[in-house]
Amino acid sequence: MTEEYRARFARVAMRSAPTPMAVLEHGEGARVWDVDGAEYLDFLAGIAVNALGHAHPVVVDAIAAQAARVMHVSNYFTSPPAVAFAETLVRLTGAGEAGRVYPANSGAEAIEAAVKLARRTGRPRILAFESGFHGRTMGALALTGKAALREPFEPMLPGVEHIPTDLAALEAAMGPDVAAVILEPIKGEAGVVPLPAGFLAAARRLTREHGALLIVDEIQTGAGRTGEWFAFQHAGELEPGDLPDAIVLAKGIGGGVPVGALVTTGAASELFTLGQHGSTFGGNPLATAVAVAVLGEIERAGLVQNAARRGEQLQQGIRDLASPLVTEVRGRGLLIGVELDRPVAGHVVAAALERGLIINAASGTTVRLAPPLIIGDADIERFLTLFSASLEAAA
Ligand SMILES: *Cc1c(COP(=O)(O)O)cnc(C)c1O
Repeated sequence: MTEEYRARFARVAMRSAPTPMAVLEHGEGARVWDVDGAEYLDFLAGIAVNALGHAHPVVVDAIAAQAARVMHVSNYFTSPPAVAFAETLVRLTGAGEAGRVYPANSGAEAIEAAVKLARRTGRPRILAFESGFHGRTMGALALTGKAALREPFEPMLPGVEHIPTDLAALEAAMGPDVAAVILEPIKGEAGVVPLPAGFLAAARRLTREHGALLIVDEIQTGAGRTGEWFAFQHAGELEPGDLPDAIVLAKGIGGGVPVGALVTTGAASELFTLGQHGSTFGGNPLATAVAVAVLGEIERAGLVQNAARRGEQLQQGIRDLASPLVTEVRGRGLLIGVELDRPVAGHVVAAALERGLIINAASGTTVRLAPPLIIGDADIERFLTLFSASLEAAA
């Protein structure tokens, strides 16, 4: 069946789509099955999306219950889940009394809202970082720090500059014409690359001194994945009591339904005025009901703490494999990068797939792991067995 689906996909899918690694049919928890019945341990979770794994009863029930009530109302109206969604995100981010939420349908759309927010400062320049990733729509693409992704679509949105991720470069680039600095606390697509120590706090200080917005893209790192609700909340990232001006969310907050959000704090919450932004599906009762249920279950089941604990267990387990191929294991919680001593990450991923393990090559030399936050001892044990064999096969 797989080959037949692949052939059909190849005939109709846009040329921009890669050849599918597998044709997946159903899943349960951290396991997923393809159309030929082959079972996989899913340590990618739809790229940090399926926080509760596959077919979690909380998600299934939330979808069914909300679909039976009301699924869509347009933004001339609101609904109980849309209100609860915004309140939940304000609470979990700690955005405080002034916190506000714009609901979006994807990461890129939430980033687009952040770009418009930055334009509302009246300043022309937006600083982003080399090798950063913020999405594929035109505004998000302009922010993305990979020239190869941007170049086929130039000209880009004017005013965006990509600087190296170092403090001297940021200091030199800052000025009264900078609207915003946007950054990822851990660069996920670049290969799970954390910011240098103290960088976030320094960026907060510099943006404040220059009256610019600090926008933190937590699309991949948010919703508990790194062992805090949001990566900027880890001790030592920001000064106690400090917040970004805007936090961009998507991926894990919906547990698999397409949903995103821009959360603002303080004065940034007053930049958009009536009618300046909107979307047909944004704040849709179905998506927001599922997000509220997913975030509620993460909280109820202590999955933020589980992510922290399982992340350490997983990192230690990988180090203990003592593979000669592995030079570094990095990341936080359940967002982990395994650095290899040669560019064979693609081979490791292929060898893993053959053995029934789904992982990802974030770069030629980096394997990325982003399992669901629900994983336990048995999943980790199984992962280590399969991963060890995959490393050996690729060495
Ligand atoms: C995935 C991702 C995006 C883009 O989100 P989409 O939902 O794919 O548009 C933006 N920023 C980061 C950090 C991401 O990981």
